[in-house]
Order: sequence, then C-alpha cells, then structure tokens
Amino acid sequence: MKAIRFHEFGPPAALRYDDVEVPAPAPGEALVRVHAVGVNRMDVEMRAGIYGGESLMDFYFGQMMEFPHTPGIEPAGVVEAVGEGVTAVKPGDRVVPHSHLSCGACRQCLAGHDNACAQIRVLGVQTPGIGGYAEYFTWPARLLIPLPDSVTYEQGAALLVNYGPVWTALIQRAELRPGDTLLITGATGGCGHAAIEIGRLTGARVLALGGGDEKLEELASMGAEPIDYRGGFAADVLEATDGRGADVVLELVGADTFKESLGAAAGRGRVAVIGSHGGIQTELNLGLLFAMNLQIHGITRGNQASMQKLVELAGTGVLTPKIFRTLALAEAAEAHRLMDERKHSGKIVLSVA
Ligand SMILES: [Zn+2]
Repeated sequence: MKAIRFHEFGPPAALRYDDVEVPAPAPGEALVRVHAVGVNRMDVEMRAGIYGGESLMDFYFGQMMEFPHTPGIEPAGVVEAVGEGVTAVKPGDRVVPHSHLSCGACRQCLAGHDNACAQIRVLGVQTPGIGGYAEYFTWPARLLIPLPDSVTYEQGAALLVNYGPVWTALIQRAELRPGDTLLITGATGGCGHAAIEIGRLTGARVLALGGGDEKLEELASMGAEPIDYRGGFAADVLEATDGRGADVVLELVGADTFKESLGAAAGRGRVAVIGSHGGIQTELNLGLLFAMNLQIHGITRGNQASMQKLVELAGTGVLTPKIFRTLALAEAAEAHRLMDERKHSGKIVLSVA
C-alpha cells in the first residue's frame, strides 16, 4: 500500500510517498481502509521535530517515536477485515477511530476518564508503523466508532481531533451554561470553529479572537462576536461585558495569549487550556488566580464517550466541520505547507482514493 512517511525531521518535503506492507489485524483489531484523513497541527510539528517551540523528543508526544514515521491521527474509512475475536465491527462498516489507545484497566479508564490514562498512545503519534496517512491502518475494534451515512468521510476526518477536546473542555470541565460568555483565543483554527459551534449550541454568548478584517468577518459569519487580539484583548473583553469578563475562556494558543486570557476572565471564571502550540512556558499571577476565584483546567483530549456523542451529533447535522481544502494523499507535503502558512480557515483533509 501507499503511505506518507518521514525518515527524519525536516520541512514539508521530508514527507515521502512510500510503498509499505499492508498491516495485518492482530486479535481484537480491525483493518480499516482509509478514505480521508485530517491534517492536524500535531502532524506538522511531529514532522518538524518541534512541539510548542521545544524539541519534540524531549516532550511527552515524542516518546515512542520511531523513524520512518507514519503520521495521521484522524482517518475515516471502512472496515476491510477483522482479527480474531472481533464482534464489535464487521467488514463494510463505515468508521472513525477514537484515536487514543488507553489501557482500559487503570483507575482513570475504569472511571470513564480514558483520556487521562497514563498509558495512552495516540494513533499516528505513538504507534510506530501505524498512522492515518496511509491506505490502511489497524486499530482495536473496541475503539472504532460507527460513522453515520449522513457524515462524509471528509467530515469524519475533520471532527474528533478538534471537537473532542473542545467538548470535554467546555461541557465536561468548564461546565459552560446557557447565558455564559465564552471567550475563544485562536478562534480561526479548527478547534476555534468547533468551539464556536459548541458554544452557540450551548446557548452561550461567544466572543472570538482573530487577527485582521478577513478573519474577523469570518468569525462573525459563524455567529461569534469577533475581537482583534493584536495589541491585547483583555481590555476589549472587559469592555464588551460591562467590566465583568468572560465566564469561560478557552485557551487554544498557549503562552502567547495566556496572561491576557487570565485577565479577561470573570470572577469564578473557568480557563480551559487545550494545547500550547503558541509556547509552553508562561507566568502565572497567583494573586489574580485566588483574588478572582479562577479555575484553570488542562485538557489534552476527549474521552471515548464524548467522541461517540460528537459523531452522533454530526450525524444529526448539528455539528458541521468546516473543510478548507481536500488534497490527495500524495500531496501531503503541500498540505503541510498550507498548514505552515497559517492562512487556511477550516480543516485540510487528505483524500485517500
Ligand atoms: Zn488506563
């Protein structure tokens, strides 16, 4: 089969269109034929060998990485074959993977918090030889979620990586409620779009940060109230909320915006941090933290129950992942160049014919 791999860290051209063996499903696993795979910031940073400005190999996500590496966290496809003992899926089933492989036996897993399992391995990140940028991948059948016929493969490949952690952050952790004001940093990216949709679905007022007229217009067209973050935004948020601040701040950028995010939070506000591509290290004003009775939540990913819920919601048409462009698998390097340019709006998807 064809697979996109990189044999060393480097620029987008490091991605090679290789011929590799089709993996065989082990007992309990299924072989999935990929129809589409989402391109994520994680893929780009892994290829470059950098995460949040630091060496990937020093970081959690770099552990267990081997060259050549096949990236791809977010494939969607059809079950082609199943290994011994599999009854959860059958050949022909349309599926998307819950791409976080947890142990299933620790305290966190048994309590339904599989997203916090210490043993977790992420598809296309810590699964040597297996990734979504390929014609086939194998994955435990228990972690395959049925993809409704009403959701295209492209949409299926643009859903869980963004909507999963955002759902967990906003609904499960920060407990966003109708009437709350939600502030989203980095709102023009894939997680930002997901947050606008989930925020509006919840009945919250949504303030969204972007830079430049074009991005602000786009945020407004999605039903958010746009704010230009350049030159600071905490004062704008306070002004827009009669001095109160945002009840929930979804921090999608990292160190570059965190200080202002904390300053933009209302009393008893909840600041939920997902990812830190804009820098890992930051200062925390403890005085502000306790004086304002703030809560800070860290979220890496969604749990399996929330992933299943999100696929169901997408099936009813309530959630509509925005696709920016679809390219062929062989054009993965071009897709990474587009990601590096940061001019895209919505998901870049690779089509695997
Ligand atoms: Zn576990």
